[in-house]
Formats: sequence, structure tokens, C-alpha cells
Amino acid sequence: MKRIGLIGGISWESTASYYSLLNKMTAQELGAWSQPALLIDSLDFSEIVAYQQRGDWATLGEILADSARRLESAGATVLAICANTMHKNFDAVSDAVSIPVVDIRDALAREVTALGASSMSLLGTKYVMEGDFFSSHLERAGIKVVKPVAEQVDVLQSIIFDELTQGVVSDESRSVLLDIAEDCRSRGGDVVGLCCTEFGLLISEGNAPWPFVDSTVAHVKALMDH
Ligand code: GLU
Repeated sequence: MKRIGLIGGISWESTASYYSLLNKMTAQELGAWSQPALLIDSLDFSEIVAYQQRGDWATLGEILADSARRLESAGATVLAICANTMHKNFDAVSDAVSIPVVDIRDALAREVTALGASSMSLLGTKYVMEGDFFSSHLERAGIKVVKPVAEQVDVLQSIIFDELTQGVVSDESRSVLLDIAEDCRSRGGDVVGLCCTEFGLLISEGNAPWPFVDSTVAHVKALMDH
């Protein structure tokens, strides 16, 4: 029997979206009351944020690897790291276990390609936008990546950490996010990549005027396929 293991709590707001989407999509595919077998290892986000701010990715890798081992020994047969940022430690996690880890970057690349596009506006935390671990992975999959400029990076970082990961959802930040996405699109990033698992709290089919891929939805779809 297959059992999904979610490394969650990064933040709990988006882990709740994973849980909800996994259950809804399973019922849609398999019928009423069908629910996936799953385990969530929910981390303390305050600890994660502190190590991120210090740039201590080695310790973060150990925290996530421990989480992965807990899930595997509890019976998970496949894992997901429920955040884009923490894919910086993808190798530490996948090396720690013998079960597969579904990569959010592959899931995004697949959805962008399915939309017939070959370029993406990359919106996420500053770690995702400034580092190489995200954009180079997508570029290897044949997707050109367009990033926000420095000032926009700071604005998005603030929306994520001062608001979304604390459950604050505002119309003002939604319109700021829409403007930044529009600017990246004008510089060639055709599909908007919502590469923060909390961005779905702000953007949905109903309020986005351009094609986009929500990393949480893409990741859940890839887990379902697995
Ligand atoms: N959930 C977020 C992401 O998708 C941000 C939180 C974090 O820094 O881990 O990157």
C-alpha cells in the first residue's frame, strides 16, 4: 500500500492546502470518501525561519533529513517537502531515505511545459529567487526563467514572511503580487510561477489575468500521479 509522507509546517498555512488538495483530488478521481493514506511531520516554522535568516542551510538539511527518516520509518512510501525554499536541501533529504522524494521543481516544469510555454516568471522567497538551485533546475528542463528585480524581491519576501505564513491575506498584497508578475511577464516570463506554497492564498483562477502554475497544486498533482 502506498502512503504519502509530507514534510510540513513550512508553513502550516500551506501544509493545510496540501492536505485539503490531496483529499479533494483523491475523491474526484476515485469517488466519494476516497482519501489518500498520508502522514504529516509538521516542523516548527520559527526554527526553520531562524536558520534560514542565519544562512545555516547545513543545519536545515539535517532537520529535514531527520523529518524524512521519521516519515519513512512510520511507513511513508513517497515523500514531499511542502515548500519551494526547502528544496535547497533536496539532496540532503533524498539521500537520507530509500523512498522517492517528489521534486516540486520537476512538477512545475511539467505544468509550464503542458501550458505550451517555455518561459516562466519566478516568484517566491528571496532564497528561491536569488539562489541558483531553483532557476538552474528549471533551465535544465528547457524553461527560461525571468526573476523580479531586487526591490520586488524584498517586497515578496515581506509578503511571505510578514503576512502569508502568519495567515494574513490582504487585497493590497494581492494587487502588489499581480503587478510584480505583470512586470516579469513584460520582460519575457510568459507563465507566472507561483513558487511559494502560500501564494495560492492570494492568487487563484478567479483573480489572475495571465496563465500561472501554482507550485502547491503542481506538487500535489505529481504526488497523485506517483
Ligand atoms: N512555503 C514557502 C515556500 O514555498 C516559504 C517558507 C519557507 O521559507 O520555507 O518556499
